[in-house]
Amino acid sequence: MPLSKQQISTLITLVVNTTPDALSCDDCLGDVAQFAESELVGTSLCESLLKVREHLKNCPCCNDEYQSLLEALRSIDA
Ligand SMILES: [Zn+2]
Repeated sequence: MPLSKQQISTLITLVVNTTPDALSCDDCLGDVAQFAESELVGTSLCESLLKVREHLKNCPCCNDEYQSLLEALRSIDA
């Protein structure tokens, strides 16, 4: 049975609303270095970096990347 127009528009709304601000992994990794530096320096995060933080919470793969970056940055500072 084909979906009605109503059902389709409900589905589209659901998809759009589930990930209003979500970053893709590519976007996240593009900003993760800046995020790591901000965390180390303790500067407040701008909106795009807050999104990175959200993404890292939900994405073990990017979080791994972030942790090794953080370690690298720390060893430079030390
Ligand atoms: Zn990711």
